[in-house]
Amino acid sequence: MSTLEIKDLHVSIETDQGTKPILKGVSLTINTGETHAIMGPNGSGKSTLASTIAGHPRYTVDSGSITLDGENVLDMSVDERARAGLFLAMQYPVEVPGVTMTNFLRTAKTALDGEAPSIRHWTKDVKEAMSQLRIDADFAQRNVNEGFSGGEKKRVEILQLELFKPKFAILDETDSGLDVDALKVVSEGVNREHSKGEMGTMLITHYTRILRYIKPDFVHVFIDGRIAEEGGPELADRLEEEGYDRFLLPGAASA
Ligand code: ADP
Ligand code: MG
Ligand code: MG
Repeated sequence: MSTLEIKDLHVSIETDQGTKPILKGVSLTINTGETHAIMGPNGSGKSTLASTIAGHPRYTVDSGSITLDGENVLDMSVDERARAGLFLAMQYPVEVPGVTMTNFLRTAKTALDGEAPSIRHWTKDVKEAMSQLRIDADFAQRNVNEGFSGGEKKRVEILQLELFKPKFAILDETDSGLDVDALKVVSEGVNREHSKGEMGTMLITHYTRILRYIKPDFVHVFIDGRIAEEGGPELADRLEEEGYDRFLLPGAASA
């Protein structure tokens, strides 16, 4: 089992108006095999948490820690984080001109594992994963993300997840812009990888819709850079009915 541990994390960004604190003491522990939903209104800091874990240079960690099995993640470069087993789909290039999907996936897999995958297994794995995600076979020869629709990009994110087999997957608004059919296909991919029991998932979402297909073990509600409430799946059901109002009304956040 592996553990991703976030302790009292404070993160800020530089803006034209000066330093802006965004995360104000976030603590969260995820073990492999677990799915944690991070929910919250827009602007509450969910993507900031994801980007900080991924090592986006824009975000400054003022205090607190992120460790993976005790190793200091904050000391690692973006590449080292990926090799340590952290997967954030957004960290991969949006479009890579002149690089086919096949070449990109194989190059990335080789870099992550430190050795090239065996051709025979690899070709079979890629084909199988593509077909399960209903990605058309000719995508293999297309340039990475070039002209892909929103839904196709999400499928390709999950394709990477299934092929790279990270210890921890951070999925930021993977549900946004997907129709129900695409949402099902994408969720099935995440669930397939999950069923192997070797991946922990941080599923970041504003809406509860994706949680009908990917069942969280734990739900954390983000409000203004802090976790305001935590619970099991029943908390997501409550949020589906009530929304975030009870956290946002004046004086409510601490209630
Ligand atoms: P969420 O993902 O929950 O919608 P974000 O992490 O994207 O929240 O944003 C949290 C807060 O930080 C918001 O007020 C947002 O405007 C601000 N913020 C995040 N990234 C930047 C940035 N690069 N420049 C300016 N403000 C930012
Ligand atoms: Mg946002
Ligand atoms: Mg966001």
